[in-house]
Amino acid sequence: MPIFIFDTYILEQLPDKRDSRVEFIHDALTGLQDQLKELGSTLIVYHDTPLQAFKQLVKHYTIEQVYTNHDYEPYARERDDSIAQFLQEHSITFHTYKDQVIFDKLEVVKDDGKPYTIFTPYSKKWKAKLNKFYLKSYPVKKYVGNFHQQAAKRVPSLKAIGFEKTDAAFPADSPDNAIIKHYDKQRDIPGITGTSHLGVHLRFGTISIRQLVQKTMKLNETFLNELIWRDFFQMILWHFPHVGQGKAFKAEYDFIKWRNNEEEFTRWCEGTTGYPIVDAGMRELNTTGFMHNRVRMITASFLAKHLLIDWRWGEAYFAEKLLDYELASNNGNWQWAAGCGCDAAPYFRIFNPYTQTKKFDPQNTYIKKWVPEYEDDSYPAPIVEHDKARERCLETYKKALAKA
Ligand code: FAD
Repeated sequence: MPIFIFDTYILEQLPDKRDSRVEFIHDALTGLQDQLKELGSTLIVYHDTPLQAFKQLVKHYTIEQVYTNHDYEPYARERDDSIAQFLQEHSITFHTYKDQVIFDKLEVVKDDGKPYTIFTPYSKKWKAKLNKFYLKSYPVKKYVGNFHQQAAKRVPSLKAIGFEKTDAAFPADSPDNAIIKHYDKQRDIPGITGTSHLGVHLRFGTISIRQLVQKTMKLNETFLNELIWRDFFQMILWHFPHVGQGKAFKAEYDFIKWRNNEEEFTRWCEGTTGYPIVDAGMRELNTTGFMHNRVRMITASFLAKHLLIDWRWGEAYFAEKLLDYELASNNGNWQWAAGCGCDAAPYFRIFNPYTQTKKFDPQNTYIKKWVPEYEDDSYPAPIVEHDKARERCLETYKKALAKA
């Protein structure tokens, strides 16, 4: 009997009731419900806390076993532990499986069993271990006949769970082979569609990571590396859960004295910093829920280093806005950009937004799309002067690291 729980604890934390992630999940459930209906079964959807939902379930059904997949986020781990305990009290066995990644927490570790914290050796071992077994599709068809036969129930409407439609356009759920083939040459150019836009599907499981790796591994090595970064950050989050609980991976970076100027933060969020590439990125994010990876790196570095605003503010803003938001990758990449993460960009490497633009948006194609007024008088002057901001950042970081 397939169950889905809209976790009210999570939904209540979403400030905007027009949230495209909730709508995406809702659409996917509706599609799933149609498939189950054809099999004479139904998806049962709860809108409750997981524990309350399971209390209802054990009241109404005789349950022997519960199956789900691993979730590596700190909240999810606590949630699943409490459900496991509740089920155990009712003599029900709880099974969880790997599904979200190719290799999880303990599968790719150093020879001494310790987790990797540097990407390159991790990715080498990851590739050495990969074989057909890890890419096999799971035998779903074999079990289709086991579905509980029951009249289809309606998936509760978005409104019934407290949300509204957003009219967001969702990307296709299969890779575009031409994009993947040229990925290494085009992925850094924000003015073209040079990346897959599969993030949201990987995040919510509407595309299988095994199928994607199978389809693309021969097409482009750089693309495969990006999928390995995704496994890497999930592995890091599991071994070092403090990173997902507001702490820097490298503790000494928590001595940094952030300026945290709220007005400047608002200008960063709105895309009015006077740095066209930064503003273009923020406006793309605010309008579409997507931001190109190169520009995510530039805007993140700009917030933490040029403005000396705590990277956690930026992390939270991205978490609110990104359609493909996912704790492990968002946190891992923010810590990378701020310099405090595992295998991070060294703190003294400060992106220069102007040289980044020259290199990756030389015709200002991306900038013109999102900041058409960038050459007008109405466009704001730069919020900080690049060289001064750079010096201020180096001094502040140095001071913090000297304290450690
Ligand atoms: P493609 O370039 O086509 O890559 C394919 C897939 O590989 C992505 O969908 C993603 O699953 C994975 N991937 C690619 N780059 C990375 C990376 N650097 N780290 C981890 N996985 C990667 N990615 C998220 O999925 N969720 C986030 O919340 C997120 N937040 C980020 C925040 C910052 C500050 C930065 C710099 C990066 C962040 N990323 C995040 C990583 C990356 O920017 C996105 O995965 C990518 O831009 C999504 O677009 P795409 O699907 O076209 O990716």
